[in-house]
Amino acid sequence: MTGEAAGEALRAGIADASRILAGLGILDAFGHVSVRSPGRADRFLMSRSLAPALVGPGDVIELDLDGNCVSDPAARPFLERFIHAELYRLRADVGAVVHSHSPDVLPFTVVPTARMRPICHICGFLAGTPAPFDVADHAGPGTDLLIRESATGAALARHLADKAVVPMRGHGFTAVGETIEQATFRAVYTARNCRIEREARMLGEPLFLTDEEAAACDATTNGQIGRAWALWRDQWGLPAAA
Ligand SMILES: [Zn+2]
Repeated sequence: MTGEAAGEALRAGIADASRILAGLGILDAFGHVSVRSPGRADRFLMSRSLAPALVGPGDVIELDLDGNCVSDPAARPFLERFIHAELYRLRADVGAVVHSHSPDVLPFTVVPTARMRPICHICGFLAGTPAPFDVADHAGPGTDLLIRESATGAALARHLADKAVVPMRGHGFTAVGETIEQATFRAVYTARNCRIEREARMLGEPLFLTDEEAAACDATTNGQIGRAWALWRDQWGLPAAA
């Protein structure tokens, strides 16, 4: 695939992932998806500021790691593009990022004793998830909790370290993956893991996966992501992949 064709495929992938995640309730009017630019490790693609369900390939712009739009200086980017920029800067293994304000996940970001841990076999990627990132620790009191500049984006990326998902206090979470399909899958199942734990706690104290189980489950699940992606594309009326 040429660089141009790869870019086109990734623009379509961002539109598809945005619609899938909106359809599944992981994104609503807010939240966003990005992917690292093909052949340019220092750039990434994401939609201009727009509700995810409305994103089409033509809305995708290219940004540098300082959050500047390099493809269309007149485009209005998302305020929180620095989440994505700093994750790509810190993590060479990250190829895609999803940021969500999921109400299923929010409770796990605001109760100090709550920790996001893998509770079912699909969610092994949650092993080692850090405690919620608190922007007040880095930007002081009185912020709007958004990641509006490189400094707080970099602090968030350091907080995530080498893990897959970072909860954000009173805000939501961010999931990373090697591909847009993996980041999307992790975002969907982060919310499901939270729902399962909440329901399990109505019955009693739940058991969680051990670290060894989580690693084994994650290895299995990573081979199955294409099945979920194909289902979601069909469910949301997206054309079959070429
Ligand atoms: Zn946000």
